[in-house]
Amino acid sequence: MGLRIGIIHNKEEKSIRVLQRLRVLLADKDDLEIVEHDPELVITIGGDGTLLSAFHRYSHRLDEVRFLGVHTGHLGFYTDWRDYELPELVKSLSNEPGKSVSYPLLDVVLTTTDGEPKHFLALNESTIRKGSRTMVADVFIKEELFERFRGDGLAISTPTGSTAYNKSVGGAVVHPSINAMQLSEIASLNNRVFRTLGSPSIIGSHEWIDVRLKSNEQHLITIDQLDINRKGITSIKYKIADERIHFASYRHMHFWHRVKDAFIRED
Ligand code: NAP
Ligand code: MN
Repeated sequence: MGLRIGIIHNKEEKSIRVLQRLRVLLADKDDLEIVEHDPELVITIGGDGTLLSAFHRYSHRLDEVRFLGVHTGHLGFYTDWRDYELPELVKSLSNEPGKSVSYPLLDVVLTTTDGEPKHFLALNESTIRKGSRTMVADVFIKEELFERFRGDGLAISTPTGSTAYNKSVGGAVVHPSINAMQLSEIASLNNRVFRTLGSPSIIGSHEWIDVRLKSNEQHLITIDQLDINRKGITSIKYKIADERIHFASYRHMHFWHRVKDAFIRED
């Protein structure tokens, strides 16, 4: 019995070619086997978006699964390996020390006027928005009303998600060793009548955020790649999840090097 490996890829031509090469390389190894069900290691081929969908496919088994990303486009935040490094990758799996690194996830509980509260996990972020008109939301931190927000919306991100949507709305980039979530505003209204903090805030791991909405209005909630568009949402609660995502740490890349590579320059 070998290491049980699941493979998830996107539909790009390059990813399909990488998939075929990876299958050939894995077939040569007695201690590595490709499986359809219950993998211990999930290899994604594509981009960060591919890793996000793999995460959601296996989010009910996070204790048993480790992830590893091969990128076929630009270098990603969840994808460490380049397509031409496949032989080296497969070799490192064979000598597998079983080590992994883990990162925080966001726990989301959505309460509506009908039915039981729904529970989700996000790897990048969750956002709350409203169609064309101003969104009004009461933001509680723990039990205390912190602010009444008016504006386009709010984004709540994990440290590894801080370089995604959060960064586009002016949030800080957060090192993934920090066990915290970030609340960022999307175009808040600030004038003599309406007041919000006006800057992103970093919320600790033992705290929670509760965003209360007007249930008679339609809101758009995103959880990574998932969209929920409906009326009747009364509250969305966020905290750092008990679960974490584990990455196979066959190789380590310096986080700030990756940030530089993605946003500043390649050298
Ligand atoms: P997408 O529209 O294909 O992705 C948007 C871009 O975000 C892609 O370049 C993607 O990289 C990149 N990305 C994803 N996770 C990232 C991370 N943790 N750090 C830095 N960049 C990241 O959609 P997708 O690939 O399914 O990814 C969904 C994510 O896209 C959402 O969670 C959200 O964070 C992000 N997004 C950002 C904006 C924005 O910045 N205005 C708007 C919509 C969505 P790959 O090309 O490697 O997949
Ligand atoms: Mn993508």
